[in-house]
Amino acid sequence: MISRWMSPQDRFNQQTKMNKGCLEWQGHLLHNGYGQMRVNGKRIKAHRFAWESVNGDIPDGLLVLHKCDNPRCVNIEHLYLGTQKENARDRDSRGRNGFSKKTRCKRGHEFTEENTYKWKGKRICRACKKLPLPEPPKDKQI
Ligand SMILES: [Zn+2]
Ligand SMILES: [Zn+2]
Repeated sequence: MISRWMSPQDRFNQQTKMNKGCLEWQGHLLHNGYGQMRVNGKRIKAHRFAWESVNGDIPDGLLVLHKCDNPRCVNIEHLYLGTQKENARDRDSRGRNGFSKKTRCKRGHEFTEENTYKWKGKRICRACKKLPLPEPPKDKQI
C-alpha cells in the first residue's frame, strides 16, 4: 500500500520492480516514458529522485541520463550525470531518433546493404518490393 504518510524514499521503494537488470518505475509515467513521483507536493522525475537519494543534489545544467536507454529505469547503476548535449548524442548513437536501430522491415526481411534501397531518406526493403538486387560492381564481373 502506498500511503501519503510514508517517506518519499519508502514510497519510491514500493513503486519499483526489477526487470532484466532494470529497476522499472511502476508509478505514474510521463508521455516521454520517464517515471514521475510527488515529493512534498512537488513533481519530480523518479530517476532523478533515485539519483539524488544516493548522490545528493544534481548540479545545475546536468541531467540524469540512462546507460540502459530505458527511461522508466531508476536503477542507480544505470544512471549517470551528463549534459543535454550528451543526451542527444547518446540517442543518435543508439538510433532512438532514427531508423538505424531497426534492422528488419515490417515483414521481417533484414535490412542488409544489398536488400536496402534508399529512397527520399527512407529505407525500402527490396524483398518486399520485389526489386532486383543491385548489380555487383562491374569490375568484379568476369
Ligand atoms: Zn536500467
Ligand atoms: Zn521486406
